[in-house]
Amino acid sequence: MAVIKIPNNKTPIKEQEPGERIHNFKEVVLGYTLEEAVAEANRCLQCVNQPCVAGCPVNIDIPGFILALKNRDLPKSAQILKSYNNLPAVCGRVCPQESQCEGRCTVGKMKDHEPVAIGKLERFVADWEANQGTMNIPEIPSRKLGKVAIIGAGPAGLTAAADLAKMGYEVKIFEALHAAGGVLMYGIPEFRLPKSIVEREVNFIKSLGVEIDTDSIAGRSITISELKDEFDAIFIGTGAGTPSFMNIPGTNLNGVYSASEFLTRINLMHAYKFPESDTPIRIGKRVVVVGAGNVAMDASRSALRLGAESVKIVYRRSKEEMPARIEEYHHAIEEGIEFHWLTNPIEYIGDDKGNLTAVKCIKMELGEPDASGRRRPVPIQGSEFTIETDMVVEAIGQTSNKVLLSAFPELKLTSHGYIEADPETGQTSVEGVFAGGDIVTGAATVILAMGAGKKSAKAIDRYIKSKKAVV
Ligand code: FAD
Ligand code: SF4
Ligand code: SF4
Repeated sequence: MAVIKIPNNKTPIKEQEPGERIHNFKEVVLGYTLEEAVAEANRCLQCVNQPCVAGCPVNIDIPGFILALKNRDLPKSAQILKSYNNLPAVCGRVCPQESQCEGRCTVGKMKDHEPVAIGKLERFVADWEANQGTMNIPEIPSRKLGKVAIIGAGPAGLTAAADLAKMGYEVKIFEALHAAGGVLMYGIPEFRLPKSIVEREVNFIKSLGVEIDTDSIAGRSITISELKDEFDAIFIGTGAGTPSFMNIPGTNLNGVYSASEFLTRINLMHAYKFPESDTPIRIGKRVVVVGAGNVAMDASRSALRLGAESVKIVYRRSKEEMPARIEEYHHAIEEGIEFHWLTNPIEYIGDDKGNLTAVKCIKMELGEPDASGRRRPVPIQGSEFTIETDMVVEAIGQTSNKVLLSAFPELKLTSHGYIEADPETGQTSVEGVFAGGDIVTGAATVILAMGAGKKSAKAIDRYIKSKKAVV
């Protein structure tokens, strides 16, 4: 039997050096050259059973786009990618590949082998196409099948919109903020996902004929009954952007931020360029970030770039339960972020002027598994200690955006306040109204939101066609 011999490790990718990058907001990962990308494509075994495809929520033909790249047929590679994924340069950068496509890769299952770097190859092909200066726009049917309103221009809404436009629907997105992209614009920092990349992929979606009405809050600037009158179907992708708080004593002290506000100021309002931009940001010298998800990594690494001298992450569970992407954790370690596992804040302490001076914490230990299947953190009595600090950023999770929900009382919600929707179609309790992404699942990932948008686009197509056939 022939023995397959391929390099054990992924082809290394160039990155900005940690000592340099902590002083700027430029992208950390610099990407592959063509030769590096082809070398990595050569590690793919072209498996017949394609386990990687099943690990991708939008089911990209991964072996297909990698084979075209290996053959240096980049236009074909880009065309394959784009036929499944409307935001490939975004996904190549931010998908948690280790738990999705790459987590299923056959090469990664071989002894001492890393999986094929699918995400980095996806990013390479998408960037290559954009750098050609022309985008391959698929042919759009001229006869319109119906009108669809999309609420929210995050990954879920953008994906549903793009797929429906490709099928031949007239699609209009209503977006509350002044820019489209959702978390891609206001949450994930420039050094991980440059805003020019998000704008480029949003422009691709606009070029499919999708109209995006920014500064337009569904439920306020346009009512639900107006939407129902004008459109054949509605898709809701309003996300989970409302921050959760620790609600411990001292939360009102100056210097206590929610990660939502902190990152929105930095990313969407460009506070990192202040005074060139209008929005200022206050950064402490000693910063504590609470939580260990992607949001906490982004907040801590942003604080460092804005001049904090020390940044500590405190997390009530252990490293094994950390929800952040592994690449972001490694980058944070390289940049000097300190991690304090099994540690939970119990009080913020301030001076007589109301400014934060310290965080009182307690050590935790892991007990029995809770509802999430993870071991429950339990406080160790008598283990309290303080960390001196002048700024805290709470990054402990988000909940559903409420504006639309309060204007739409007919929508059935789950006990956690998210929209109840069929996981396969996004159909809600209201006829003709579909929903997907974080507003249904709670805070999750870009690609899961996109997968939900895709499923709903198909269901909306079926719904409108059957409705029109009956009428
Ligand atoms: P969102 O992206 O939240 O978009 C919802 C949109 O709806 C927003 O633009 C909002 O303004 C708009 N909206 C809300 N209400 C209304 C209304 N009434 N009318 C009109 N518009 C409205 N995931 C990953 O996969 N990888 C990562 O590395 C990663 N990092 C993250 C970092 C941060 C800081 C955060 C906060 C999240 C991160 N995530 C990451 C999670 C991921 O971004 C989300 O799961 C994803 O964006 C959800 O997409 P969505 O379309 O459901 O919602
Ligand atoms: Fe993997 Fe995400 Fe690309 Fe799918 S979209 S192949 S999960 S990186
Ligand atoms: Fe290639 Fe890995 Fe997919 Fe197999 S599982 S086709 S090796 S990317």
